[in-house]
Amino acid sequence: MDKPLQFYSTNLNSENISFHEALLMGQAPDKGLYMPVCIPAIPAAEIDEFRNMDYPGIAYRVILRFLRGEIQDDELMALVKDAYDYEVPLEQVFERKYVMRLDRGPTASFKDFAARMMGRLMQYYLKLENRRLLILTATSGDTGSAVANAFYGLDSIDIVVLFPKDEVTARQRKQMTTLGKNVRVLALDAKFDDCQALVKQAFADPQLAGLRLSSANSINIGRLVPQIVYYFYAYAELAEQGEEILFSVPSGNFGDMMGGVLAMKLGLPVRKFIIATNENNEFPEFLASGKYSKIEPSRNCISSAMNVGHPSNLARLVALYGGMMDEKGILGHPVNMERMRNDIWSVSISDAETRKTIGDAWYRWNLLLEPHGAVGWAGLLRFLGENHRQLADDQLCVSLETAHPAKFPDEIKRITGFDPPLPRSLQGIDDKPEYFSELPNNYTDFKTWLLENYK
Ligand SMILES: *Cc1c(COP(=O)(O)O)cnc(C)c1O
Repeated sequence: MDKPLQFYSTNLNSENISFHEALLMGQAPDKGLYMPVCIPAIPAAEIDEFRNMDYPGIAYRVILRFLRGEIQDDELMALVKDAYDYEVPLEQVFERKYVMRLDRGPTASFKDFAARMMGRLMQYYLKLENRRLLILTATSGDTGSAVANAFYGLDSIDIVVLFPKDEVTARQRKQMTTLGKNVRVLALDAKFDDCQALVKQAFADPQLAGLRLSSANSINIGRLVPQIVYYFYAYAELAEQGEEILFSVPSGNFGDMMGGVLAMKLGLPVRKFIIATNENNEFPEFLASGKYSKIEPSRNCISSAMNVGHPSNLARLVALYGGMMDEKGILGHPVNMERMRNDIWSVSISDAETRKTIGDAWYRWNLLLEPHGAVGWAGLLRFLGENHRQLADDQLCVSLETAHPAKFPDEIKRITGFDPPLPRSLQGIDDKPEYFSELPNNYTDFKTWLLENYK
């Protein structure tokens, strides 16, 4: 088999390792994030062959680029077929403007794409090495349920999910707390960023080394690579040969949009990425000014999974554009802003505009959006409004819908007057018993809890 692709840490102070090592490690020892040393290219002719393939077929071709020499072809094929057994609708809204619905997986958010693949790959390597792991993950709603479902019942892995108790909807909570078995859930009197900070502190704590901790957050490279695939899928389904797509990505921790930017670096024809944030506008401000300051504490918006005041994947984006950013958000090397602005346009969408977008989309186009997807769609409409002179009318555009509207029934009912129909994956969940513990926002309590439960 080929020599494995190597991954470096964005803090540039850890050894390079292979994909499967980075997958099991999560964060690098120097607290940086793993990135491929060189980005493998997919030739244009092969990308055009994708147009005759289904989702698992494309996933296999893309993911293999990062796993070469580390898994047998037929084994990877079996994993992607098992992970991607649901549809990925591309809904035409008007002309050549589409919404890609990434909400048909078992927990009805786009995070299923990453979590299902990561869980299967981790299990595959842990079994080979006869090892166990304890996964810690902080969630603003959808990661926790996607990861918990993807790992539920796996015998080599225990999982602990931390969530900010006032920032997730009842349905999001129940998708995590009704599982049981190897899934334990902690409700914290804290914000998402605090949960994330507790998890990071636990990883860095030498007294917890015996627990074999790993992460399933978007800092894990195993989360990122599967998120490259659906950008290629949109191209395969919609584009003419070689045609560039304009993507709009509603963003919080920036894992989703990093998948897109990596797809472009692999060779996908892309006109531009629109990075649409909610009122946590640290990135649009950074792109405009070149100066970065995180937002602490993060602002509470109705697109709650994007309430992030300092996106952890920003260090990866900065690395791709020649800069260096440490885990605290401090820029070590400056970024090539001109190149970044050439590829990316960014906008912050208020809650008021998000709500108006949900209503307009429904009444104007019969397009049902939830708050996250509405931020993406609003971002696309803003860009089209401001740049119509530079764009052809038939510019192909794809805006990502990242959750199923039924996960946000109150907001949608208030605006449209009806309850969005439940997908099969959410039916029955309202009546199941819940299991979770409550903890204060305090590292000592969290550590004690871990040691008591997993020693
Ligand atoms: C996590 C999440 C996002 C944000 O994705 P990032 O990769 O963190 O930018 C957007 N929408 C939904 C529904 C999510 O769950």
